Amino acid sequence: MAMENMADKAQATGEEIYRLVERLYPICRSITGDGVRQTLAILREYIPLEIHEVRTGTTVFDWTIPKEWNIRDAYVKDADGRRVIDFKKHNLHVVSYSVPVRQRMSLAELKAHLFTSEEYPDWIPYRTSYYNESWGFCLAHNDFLKLADGEYEVCIDSSLEPGSLTYGEYFIQGDSEDEILLFAHCCHPSLCNDNLSGLAMLTLLARELADADTRYSYRFVFAPATIGSTTWLSRNQANLSRIRHGLVAAVLGDPGKLTYKKSRSETAEIDRAVEHVLKHSGEDYEILDFSPWGYDERQFCSPGINLPVGRLTRTPNGCYPEYHTSADNLQLVTPAALGNSFALYRELMQVLDENRTFINLSPNCEPQLGKRGLYRKTGGYKDVENRQLAILWVLNQSDGMHSLLDIAEKSGMSVRELSRVADELVSCELLKLAGT
Ligand code: ZN
Repeated sequence: MAMENMADKAQATGEEIYRLVERLYPICRSITGDGVRQTLAILREYIPLEIHEVRTGTTVFDWTIPKEWNIRDAYVKDADGRRVIDFKKHNLHVVSYSVPVRQRMSLAELKAHLFTSEEYPDWIPYRTSYYNESWGFCLAHNDFLKLADGEYEVCIDSSLEPGSLTYGEYFIQGDSEDEILLFAHCCHPSLCNDNLSGLAMLTLLARELADADTRYSYRFVFAPATIGSTTWLSRNQANLSRIRHGLVAAVLGDPGKLTYKKSRSETAEIDRAVEHVLKHSGEDYEILDFSPWGYDERQFCSPGINLPVGRLTRTPNGCYPEYHTSADNLQLVTPAALGNSFALYRELMQVLDENRTFINLSPNCEPQLGKRGLYRKTGGYKDVENRQLAILWVLNQSDGMHSLLDIAEKSGMSVRELSRVADELVSCELLKLAGT
């Protein structure tokens, strides 16, 4: 595809991802409950996600599936009956997993349950209390300062009852049983970059890969953070050995630079492939060493699981001021950034698919390229030179021990251009796939 067409396509895809983010934004999600079900139902309009429900009380490794949380309404009313804090205006106003409350209390009593950010006084912070039964409200610090003394009416119309944890999974069969795992968490309420950007981008990537002819199979998992990835891993232990590469996708809609956090081994093929794609993308990027905090890569990279799973974001979680606040909204994410993230993920999937290892079938001195139509007829063109160089690199290094990514790293060329000439060399019977 010509460069202009690629840019147009990334822009159009970015706009489509953005529209999906817009649709998902108002839903109040948590680690369980109807918000997650509604979200996955919308994603099913794009891809045939399989929905799984795991009952409250089920043991998943060292964890237990919690009670299911749902919420209908919540508010704090002042003495005049005005809603001074209103869940209907923004779902971040309620601490996620708040137990039901219906009480009158003084401002002093109420304050013990209020959370604000003095650093960003106009934004509502995001707070959760999943594993400790309590309740609370979040509000802009400037609104908090306006609360007058007096009696308040507090209502949280929620339920915390036995139910289930919901996650979605979509498997695309490729030519091989080897899988690439792509994971996004789906548990955040109205937060665009942290959560929705990853969910929406992966959904459109899945739709595209479903129509592509690929060597790898792909497995998309959309589950709540921590408890969701732990649940999925505990239920799929028998098949984990098929996962050759994996990525946790989140925070892909802000205008910041692309940031990759390496897998636990730091030298897995996914780590090298991402670095290769970023290097050849012409974009600004950063590579981070592995660390045992962050998103669900913590579970995929725990010592007993130890999968080659990295995390590819734009600005990492916690490193932008809007993170986990009401300012992580539809203004923070842009179609351009979403489209650019999509194009990068798509390119990465292509590079992983094309990264193969070959054996030179004519390894004694260089084979005569001219008689096979592989040698340049006229000199002077830069792309001709590149193609020539790519042929020589692939022939020289293809001893069954060096993959195209190895050759790319050594030569400075891209896997995509090496792959093109490798396919030509296979048709001229100068090369064969290792292991065949
Ligand atoms: Zn988060």
